[in-house]
Amino acid sequence: MANETAVSINSEQLIARQRDAYLAAGIPSLHERKQQLARLRRAVIWHRHELEDSISTDFGHRSRHETSIMELVGVVQAIDYLSKNLRKFMKRERRHVALFHRFGRAFIEYQPKGVIGVMSPWNYPVSLSLIPIATAIAAGNRVMLKPSELTPRTSELLQRMLSGIFSLETVAVVLGGADVGADFSRLPFDHLLFTGSTPVGRKIMQAASDNLVPLTLELGGKSPAVIARGHVSPLTMQSLVYGKLSNAGQTCVAPDFAMVHADDLDAFVSSYSAMVDRFYPDGTSGTDYTSIVSDRHLSRLTSLLDDAKVKGARVVTVGTEQQPPQGKIRVMRPTLVVGASDDMLVMQEEIFGPVLPVVTYRDMADVINYINARPRPLALYYFGETGAECNELMRRTTSGHFGVNHTLTHVALDDAPFGGVGASGMGAYHGMEGFRSMSHAKSVYVQSRWSLPRLMRAPFGRLADFALALTLGPSQRQ
Ligand code: NAD
Repeated sequence: MANETAVSINSEQLIARQRDAYLAAGIPSLHERKQQLARLRRAVIWHRHELEDSISTDFGHRSRHETSIMELVGVVQAIDYLSKNLRKFMKRERRHVALFHRFGRAFIEYQPKGVIGVMSPWNYPVSLSLIPIATAIAAGNRVMLKPSELTPRTSELLQRMLSGIFSLETVAVVLGGADVGADFSRLPFDHLLFTGSTPVGRKIMQAASDNLVPLTLELGGKSPAVIARGHVSPLTMQSLVYGKLSNAGQTCVAPDFAMVHADDLDAFVSSYSAMVDRFYPDGTSGTDYTSIVSDRHLSRLTSLLDDAKVKGARVVTVGTEQQPPQGKIRVMRPTLVVGASDDMLVMQEEIFGPVLPVVTYRDMADVINYINARPRPLALYYFGETGAECNELMRRTTSGHFGVNHTLTHVALDDAPFGGVGASGMGAYHGMEGFRSMSHAKSVYVQSRWSLPRLMRAPFGRLADFALALTLGPSQRQ
């Protein structure tokens, strides 16, 4: 039963309907789950251009290539990976039984949790809604989505698209802002996956605690990019510019700031600028350069730069600016903040824009100390040789991801968990980890007719002594 929307039904009623439907229908088969995933895949392809257009309108401007490459490809790949591996993921897992438990059998049954809540942000509004939904239905669950109010057209389109292919009892979309989000996060879900900022993540965790709702928190933070001494190369710059300026830096795993050897600083500034020119030959007026999502975010970014200037940083706009952007709104030029220091807001807040502060270092030990003195990042990128220094940085720091000579591309790896650690999040999803996070790993033990535990009961006698001798060895008492 498709085509009903969640408009006239409140969230409490929705979750009750989904839970009742789940309990009545029981666990969906492999075939049913694959059919649901296939339906979702077809809908994404069918609505491709509508999604590209609505995101562009919501942002002020975003290239249709960027939307398809950075969102739709990821969704389709994730669906394909889940479908292909679902039989394996769902398979009952035989577990070892110790001598004491022989001849019983133990196994893990991956059971759907029931009703999953998904809260998504505005920066990748399609993939960060649909990959969690695909994961939840692959694991056999019902899903309620609360997308962001900052991309209203895309959120409405998602609601229309999903209600066209799923009944409200299977996948429902609840629209609204922070107040609706606050109510949503208090619902008694069987699991809640929240993607968004660390401050809001804290509120979500508090709200979920009332009902002891298990959480996956996909949060943000400051992801450093460390450039080894002498590695200011075109390949390094290509990855950095790609990571920093895709979606105009409004990416959770964008390199937030760069750590560059002091001797390489001048080369870094000029190479970064030259690479920005190669990516965006028409400057910010070109169609490939994305706008900032709202006036509030633009003024926040501008005030970060004002604060850095006042505190003594060199703020350098880079790349060509051939003509003022025409017909584009909320455009911010790629900017370097050279000589960034800890007292500047730009080194305290997650930037989430096309601004790259540059911090210099002399010694890799200082880099490690610097990173370890701050909240654990979602990603830590290293550019250099894959030798001792790289290993040292990887082993002595903790981050959601450690990237070597790349930025962002790990987000599309289906066979690797995606998530943060500490202030950048808890839990992970994508592929098998996602399936497991939205399944209950139920342990099942089947006692056999003949087993040692049956001998270990009162009244204790020779059989219990025999069983104990088998498990603990002969008694030492004389
Ligand atoms: P946000 O935390 O403001 O909003 C996320 C969701 O929470 C939205 O649906 C919003 O409506 C809702 N919300 C906002 N305030 C709320 C409140 N007080 N109570 C309940 N719900 C509330 O995040 P955002 O600005 O949309 O997204 C940007 C942030 O998300 C950045 O910090 C970024 O790093 C992070 N992010 C993380 C990932 C990841 O996978 N780890 C991916 C994308 C973005």
